[in-house]
Amino acid sequence: MPEDIDTPCLVADGDRVKANITRMQVAMNERGIRLRPHAKTHKSVAIAGMQLAAGASGITVGTLGEAETFAAAGCIDVFIAYPIWASERKAVRLRALADRIPLKVGIDSVAGSEQLGAAVRDLQVLIEIDSGEHRTGVPAPKAAEVAAAATRAGLEVVGVYTHGGHAYEDATSVISAADDEVSALGAAVDALGAMGLRIDTASAGSTPTALRSARGCVTEERPGTYVFGDRQQVSLGAAAPEDVALFVLATVVGIGETWLVLDCGAKTLSKDRKPWMPGHGILLDFPGLTVDSLYDYHAVVPTPPGVDAPKIGERVTVVPNHVCPVVNLFDRIHVAVNGQIVDIWPVDARGKNA
Ligand code: PLP
Repeated sequence: MPEDIDTPCLVADGDRVKANITRMQVAMNERGIRLRPHAKTHKSVAIAGMQLAAGASGITVGTLGEAETFAAAGCIDVFIAYPIWASERKAVRLRALADRIPLKVGIDSVAGSEQLGAAVRDLQVLIEIDSGEHRTGVPAPKAAEVAAAATRAGLEVVGVYTHGGHAYEDATSVISAADDEVSALGAAVDALGAMGLRIDTASAGSTPTALRSARGCVTEERPGTYVFGDRQQVSLGAAAPEDVALFVLATVVGIGETWLVLDCGAKTLSKDRKPWMPGHGILLDFPGLTVDSLYDYHAVVPTPPGVDAPKIGERVTVVPNHVCPVVNLFDRIHVAVNGQIVDIWPVDARGKNA
């Protein structure tokens, strides 16, 4: 890892990022499925550009602020996969954005459709279906009710989408979550077909399920995390350890009796942690060393007897549990190729969470 940058910082392996982008695109091309990567993972115009150049049909975002950022940079096909509540300020911003690019937005309620339709007439919308994560989305049989409300409100229903986020429940949930995505989208397509509505998009999406749900009625996939991979994806079998492409470079700033302290605290690694995943990240070159607890600026790593550990002042590479919230804590990503920093990718949509 490079020595000439201050820690803590984010370092991407440029070759691996490119390989991850290509691998997913090729896999989707082979299956005849459109790829619309979720840009919340990288929030970077440079990386979105690489994904679009590789063949992505557009990008997915989670907020209006992200959509504005990518649209300003020239991304013209943007789907906000989120049931935005189009209250006054957001309605003005949505109208302005929809005037500039062919925007698509998620909806999942009658009230949300009415609000959105009052804000922007003729906007293209996709109905979110809950395939088992139980976050946003309606059960498939309710898709028709939301579609009818959307049509009444002057919106154009062009598709249905789901996020099989329950794939993250544990290592055994991935296959069933992918099946759930396909069957929930199929049932929703049928429900809309029965009311005479023809749609062109059935969009599934998560990194663990992407390759498994790209079939049947599904026309589009929206994985995001695949671009970097992380400790969670490796645990779920969705990334090989040698494909992980984003790391936190940190320095050992303290040594205790049975622990060491790194300069990458919660304001670097975030505290995101699944109940089944012990710790907050692992030290790449020191097998057996895991970040056990986090303070704002300190990461505490227990050092069991007999386990090789770095010395004070040494730099270490940490593999984060979940890269998406980590990226949102940084202004830039250093790009390394063969151990040299060759580029900087700004995190353009950092903090654009509204
Ligand atoms: N689509 C939606 C609606 C999401 O919420 C997410 C992730 O949170 C994704 C796609 C991408 O999933 P992943 O992070 O597993 O790549």
